Amino acid sequence: MGQMMNQPMLISSIIQHADRHFGRKEIVSRRVEGDIHRYTYRDCHKRARQMANALGNLGVAMGDRVATLAWNGYRHLELYYAISGSGAVIHTINPRLHPEQIAYIANHAEDTYVFFDLTFLHLVETLAAQCRSVKGYIAMTERSNMPAVSTIPNLMCYEDLIEASSDRYEWPTFDENSASTLCYTSGTTGNPKGVLYSHRSTILHAYASSMPDALNMSGREVVLPVVPMFHVNAWGFPYSAPLTGAKLVLPGPALDGGSLYELIEQEGVTFSAGVPTVWLGLLEHAGRGKLTFSSFRRIVIGGAACPPAMMKTYRQQYGVELVHTWGMTEMSPLGTVCTLQSHHLVLPQDEQQAILEKQGHVVYGVDMKIVDDAGSELPWDGTIRGNLYVRGPWVAKSYFKAENGEVLQDGWFPTGDVATIDPEGYMQITDRSKDVIKSGGEWIGSIELENVALAHPAVRLAACIGVFHPKWDERPLLVIVKKPGADVSKDELINSYKGRVASWWTPDDVVFVDSLPVGATGKILKNEIRNQLRDYKLPTT
Ligand code: ADP
Repeated sequence: MGQMMNQPMLISSIIQHADRHFGRKEIVSRRVEGDIHRYTYRDCHKRARQMANALGNLGVAMGDRVATLAWNGYRHLELYYAISGSGAVIHTINPRLHPEQIAYIANHAEDTYVFFDLTFLHLVETLAAQCRSVKGYIAMTERSNMPAVSTIPNLMCYEDLIEASSDRYEWPTFDENSASTLCYTSGTTGNPKGVLYSHRSTILHAYASSMPDALNMSGREVVLPVVPMFHVNAWGFPYSAPLTGAKLVLPGPALDGGSLYELIEQEGVTFSAGVPTVWLGLLEHAGRGKLTFSSFRRIVIGGAACPPAMMKTYRQQYGVELVHTWGMTEMSPLGTVCTLQSHHLVLPQDEQQAILEKQGHVVYGVDMKIVDDAGSELPWDGTIRGNLYVRGPWVAKSYFKAENGEVLQDGWFPTGDVATIDPEGYMQITDRSKDVIKSGGEWIGSIELENVALAHPAVRLAACIGVFHPKWDERPLLVIVKKPGADVSKDELINSYKGRVASWWTPDDVVFVDSLPVGATGKILKNEIRNQLRDYKLPTT
């Protein structure tokens, strides 16, 4: 056996490291109250230790679940370390879920305490009667902002707990495979499922995601995670930023283009991360005001396919690179990132662009393959599409309290995505398997069809769904939201597919709508669109 130290990888070591080595580096937060709060990694560590003592005084024990309903802010960050670091499990709840789903999740997780931002006071008032295991609720604010009257049982004040607690606290040492964090999938179909991360998986993910061809996180960056800390750990930013000493800027609830622009400029943000709809908002804001960016260079985009047209606009008009990533809740979330190799740098711009539009290369640690419906592995030729399977030390093997339900297939996690992989290992998602359009026994990739529509200057949002056809089973229907004040006809859009996709892929019809339904993680909900259009009939049928 090797003779190296067997030191467990524990989340508390990250904030200790940040305190020691980047102690004066800033964490800037836009608070729920609207003002800006700033302090340092050293301050964060001190208050996390105070909160760890407070949790101990409340009787929170190793493995207990402690929930949060909160935006990206410094108190939420303190809880990330105080809860996991002391051996309990932070359960981040997505407040955008339906209250009934939240109650289901809190009961399923058997949460012991719930910490919440004041934004969610009424939500918590509604939930409290239904959450059977919760012993108390903590409002993440100071005494002067506490509600005068409330129906919430055992309501406490965050700052009171901090004030009453000593900062003398020794982070405990335990097995690195212990659970650290619980996050439920959004449950677009069926009940949400709990993904239970460990200290080890979280640290390995933080290491790997910091690498240059991953997030390229470093002490020279000023990072703004727009991705919420209430879903999939804000893609690990709360760990990778302190691990590398990046300045952290937390946007709170203000995620509109104007608020983000202001924060980016004021704090000298160099890179940010989020789903495509957020970047559309920022682009529209910058366009309206004819604004430019002074420090902003890079956006890591994922959660849904990045429209190539948006990638080009950001680069050509604003000098901001959009880096495409792919992952999911069950993968902590990072799976692939799209960056160029040295031999690509000599390629013409359009060939480089074609590579960058893919979801990218796996980050070392994740292994992937594509298989057919019988489970046989398919070749990496960049054309053949198959079901995407992954495995790795930060990929889930089962769901919380469903350990007997077999999730893996021969040790691989089926992602539910359909993809191609090219000979160089660049993966491209063509669809979620449940969104694939099956026409005449062949698959039509809806993402590619949406990207063609999104390249039209009058199109703001596009979704492509399969609708019933008596001969072909399904045919593609394009659902479009136009940009305000812009116009485009159905024929013009359909004609724009000529020469861009195989002719039988061309959508049969276009429906113009005022808005598209967006889910709790900011993605367009295709099942909802299919529902809304269930009585729709194609013109030819
Ligand atoms: P939920 O939408 O239920 O919250 P996740 O946040 O875990 O679930 O989303 C994971 C899914 O999002 C992936 O399986 C994939 O379908 C989709 N996704 C993530 N990144 C991309 C991307 N870059 N391109 C296309 N789809 C993506």
